This record gives sequence, C-alpha cells and structure tokens, in this order.
Amino acid sequence: MNIMLFGPPGAGKGTQAKKLVDFYGFPQISTGDILRANVREGTELGLAAKAYMDKGELVPDDVLIGIIKNRLKEEDCKKGFILDGYPRTVPQADALEAILDEIGRPIDVVLNLEVHDEMLVGRISGRLMCKCGASYHIISNPPKKDRICDICGGEVFQRADDNAETVDNRLDVYEKQTQPLINYYKKKGILVTLDGRRGIDVVFNNIKGILAKFA
Ligand code: ADP
Ligand code: ADP
Ligand code: ZN
Repeated sequence: MNIMLFGPPGAGKGTQAKKLVDFYGFPQISTGDILRANVREGTELGLAAKAYMDKGELVPDDVLIGIIKNRLKEEDCKKGFILDGYPRTVPQADALEAILDEIGRPIDVVLNLEVHDEMLVGRISGRLMCKCGASYHIISNPPKKDRICDICGGEVFQRADDNAETVDNRLDVYEKQTQPLINYYKKKGILVTLDGRRGIDVVFNNIKGILAKFA
C-alpha cells in the first residue's frame, strides 16, 4: 500500500506516519527528516537547504524532486511506503506522478489531516523532537522520561524552525503553495479528509479504518 500523509505543518503527519510504520512495516519517507539529517551532517545539500528551512520557506523543487526520486527507487519501498511532507507544490506532485508511473507504484490514498491554524500554532510551539524522527509535545504527548526519546533514548529538543517568527510564515506558505494540492488529489479521486483535531489514537483508528479498505 502506498500512502500519502497530507496537511499543514503541525497537523500530525509525522506522528501518524510513525504509528503506520509500526503497524504496517512500510518505510516512512519524510522529506523534513531527510533535510534535517543533511543539515546535521553538514552536507552540501544541507547547507543549501538550511537558510530556507530557518525562514520557513520551501526548499526549491529541484532539490526535493532529486531526493524523492532516489529514495523511492530504494528496495524497501517495493512493499509500500508512507510519504510525509512531500509533495508541497504542484511541480513536486507532477514529478512524483512521473516517478511513480515509471516504477509502476501509484499512490493508493492521500490522507488529508485537517486542523485549524490556532491549534497548529499550539502544536508547533510545544513540539519536541528527536533526531530519530520521533515527535513529542510538551503537554499533549510528552516523552515518558523527561526529555528522553521513548524510542531511541536520545535527547529530545525543539526544532530550530519551531519558533513564533517562523510559524506564521510556514502557515502562509502552506496556504499559498501546498493547499492547492487538495484539489489536485480530489480530482484524482484518492483524497480522504480526516478530522486531525482529535487525539492521536482517535486519528490513528480513523486512519486504520480507511486503510482497511485498501489492504
Ligand atoms: P512540518 O513538520 O512543519 O510540516 P517538515 O519537517 O515537513 O515540517 O519540513 C520542515 C522544513 O523542511 C519545511 O519548512 C521546508 O523548509 C523543508 N521541506 C520539507 N519538505 C519539503 C518539501 N517537500 N518541499 C520543500 N521544502 C520542504
Ligand atoms: P507534522 O509532521 O504534521 O508537522 P507532528 O506529527 O510533528 O506534525 O505533530 C506536531 C505536534 O503536535 C507534535 O508536538 C505532536 O506531538 C503533536 N500532535 C500530533 N498529533 C496530535 C494530536 N492528534 N493531538 C494532539 N497533539 C498532537
Ligand atoms: Zn529518538
């Protein structure tokens, strides 16, 4: 099964993707995680991406398309995959379609997590994350041990771009550049919209119910 998690920053894509990985065993492909790993390792790509990420701007399409093309061709994607944070623009979606056509593995379903802006700001400003990609929240989803990741034992931290100045811009960028993809996938008949405001497990149960139809 090939799944796309869609929604604004803070909607819960990464959180649900991790649960789907545990449940189905498909790899999560998070372009945000891939970019952050490159920033951490100081690669050329990371150095080029960092300035955009810190401002809450999108990293240019050609960079992202290159990343996703390589990743989707890896062996582990053959059993299915979970896209998280890609595509974010129409050119990225068009490129994705061409890549998936070529490898004969189309997206089965786009899960669109709907959450209003005020709640997104609260989620993003309280988000803590781990370098393994796990994401927590200081109030709604704290790690079991103070500041220690439940999954890998690493220390959790606040993302450089999860600050008040950048958040507004990220929500604007989402609205202008990414939201049009809702219609793009609606027209293809593969979009399912869910109420992302509910608790993590409630949302996950909804997702499992939807995916049961594709298994
Ligand atoms: P969020 O959790 O806020 O949705 P991500 O972790 O997905 O954020 O992405 C963090 C940042 O990485 C984005 O603000 C953007 O700068 C960059 N980024 C991630 N994915 C993409 C993409 N598909 N296209 C362009 N930029 C991206
Ligand atoms: P995204 O990947 O869409 O940017 P995340 O999965 O990182 O979003 O979630 C953003 C923040 O909101 C994190 O702090 C996470 O722990 C928290 N969160 C995610 N889903 C929910 C939910 N259903 N209810 C409450 N908090 C949530
Ligand atoms: Zn961790």
